Amino acid sequence: MRYSKYYIPTYKETPSDAEVISHQLMLRAGMIRKLASGIYTYLPAGLRSIKKVENIIREEMNRAGAIEILMPAVQPAELWQESGRWDYYGRELLRFKDRHNHDACLGPTHEEVITDLVRKEIQSYKQMPINFYQIQTKFRDEIRPRFGLMRGREFIMKDAYSFDIDDKSANHSYEIMHEAYTRIFMRCGLKFRAVEADTGAIGGSFSHEFMVLADTGEDQIISCTNCEYAANLEKAEIRPPENVPEHGEQDINPVVPVDTPDIKTVEEVTSFLDITPDQLIKTLIFVSDEEVVAALVRGDHEINEAKLTALLGAQKIELADADIVTEITGAPMGFAGPVGLNIKIVADYAIKGMNNFVTGGNKKDLHLKNVNLKKDFKVNRFADLRNITPGDLCPKCGGEIRFGRGIEVGHVFKLGTKYSKALKAMFLDEKGKERPIIMGCYGIGVGRTVAAAIEQNHDKNGIVFPIPVSPFEVTILPLQMHETTVVEIAEKIYKHLLDNNVDVLIDDRDERAGVKFTDADLLGIPVRVTVGLRGVKNGQVEIKLRAESESVDMPVKDAPAFIKEKIKDLYDSLK
Ligand code: ATP
Ligand code: MG
Repeated sequence: MRYSKYYIPTYKETPSDAEVISHQLMLRAGMIRKLASGIYTYLPAGLRSIKKVENIIREEMNRAGAIEILMPAVQPAELWQESGRWDYYGRELLRFKDRHNHDACLGPTHEEVITDLVRKEIQSYKQMPINFYQIQTKFRDEIRPRFGLMRGREFIMKDAYSFDIDDKSANHSYEIMHEAYTRIFMRCGLKFRAVEADTGAIGGSFSHEFMVLADTGEDQIISCTNCEYAANLEKAEIRPPENVPEHGEQDINPVVPVDTPDIKTVEEVTSFLDITPDQLIKTLIFVSDEEVVAALVRGDHEINEAKLTALLGAQKIELADADIVTEITGAPMGFAGPVGLNIKIVADYAIKGMNNFVTGGNKKDLHLKNVNLKKDFKVNRFADLRNITPGDLCPKCGGEIRFGRGIEVGHVFKLGTKYSKALKAMFLDEKGKERPIIMGCYGIGVGRTVAAAIEQNHDKNGIVFPIPVSPFEVTILPLQMHETTVVEIAEKIYKHLLDNNVDVLIDDRDERAGVKFTDADLLGIPVRVTVGLRGVKNGQVEIKLRAESESVDMPVKDAPAFIKEKIKDLYDSLK
């Protein structure tokens, strides 16, 4: 490609509306432009990186035996009503009506559409296992689109769906995808970890998220410093305490009501009463499907809604609004407590063994001191209901845990029969008996993967692309466009590389050397070939890797072979 006839609009200033480095660099390097919140145009260089990632994904999906198809972006509401998600999905689902007043949506994911296809196409055990995938544009009306391609509203996703006759075979399909994902992200040059993730309340299912390790990641990842355990914050389990009685050994005192005028939050209550947060119990009122329940966690702990949802076996839970809280507790928000409460009470394990603690008093401006389990109220069930904290130990081996941040680039999910049952995707087994198909789904954010690669690979001058994701493999900079020998040598190398299927960009603009160097660094192309008057006089060009500070001078005749070798080394290092 010739820079002069191409379009890479770079700029120097850090864009004011871009918070994370990948977003800033993609704008500055002329890879993307914003149309509206969370909606971007891929400019030529950005599109090239996107296509590179798509091709890696495609190769590995095909290698893993998945079959490419392409499904529509527009999906009829009926399918979503059938699966039950039309009411459940919320406002991320962009809905509209067509001219005949039929409800429809822009697909945020394709479980419904693929299950509809499969229930019509696949009837026999002989047709499975089968795995269909597509690389397609999704729309999710994210509440907070941000960080450029990282969290867009319109974005490209690879989504795959596996169909199996039984659990054993479904687990095998899952393993194959897990392996393919590992290869894909290795080939993209990413440092990542597959972590156990939450699956909601779907039975027989499990899932892993592929997390690129980066400080700017939106997800918190917990990993063990001793064993292989890694999980996201939602999923990370906490070891149940062993043999803890329902109250501790200390003396149990009678309950003392204390006036706490307008004092509601943990911070306010603890400082007012001069206690530490672990001497207080937070009472959270939730609406779980139709039922109202109270969940208790220690003042210094955070409730984990995914764990609570799973414990209650609920489809959906939500913190109760002010009206419900008043109706249930008799007090405005901020004063709920378990004493005298007539609803189901579930409590986190950490509460077992606490005594003489503080809770809300179920009356405006009132808290209770010296509250005790059993004596003052009854817990229906103890369970792991909170987020893990840095003070906890690894749930698998008891080792020390580490908190880190990650960007979720991919997600593999064993779905089980959730969609096949809802949409009646059945097959006849060997005995002619009708059974629901076992499904798995597998997503990768293509744009997010490019952004994550930049997040992990940059320096003060710009992007330092891993070669498989870079828009070009090599850039050639002829420094003096008016010097015939310079141009001739640059053109010769350019032609040679083109003939050898190298992705090469020649910066043939009539620009100063400084501009060419700055732009080359910004765009982060891994191999740079500089053809300058001084070197050319000695029959030499300079070759430099973007990731290294040293360069080498090379006789012109040896340059092409050397460049090709460097390219090969860069790819080989990611195998
Ligand atoms: P997140 O928790 O980040 O919202 P998700 O759990 O909603 O992700 P999935 O439904 O599993 O994501 O989608 C599969 C993949 O699509 C994700 O792993 C991610 O790489 C990508 N993805 C999801 N939402 C977005 C988005 N808004 N912008 C860009 N990529 C996205
Ligand atoms: Mg999401």
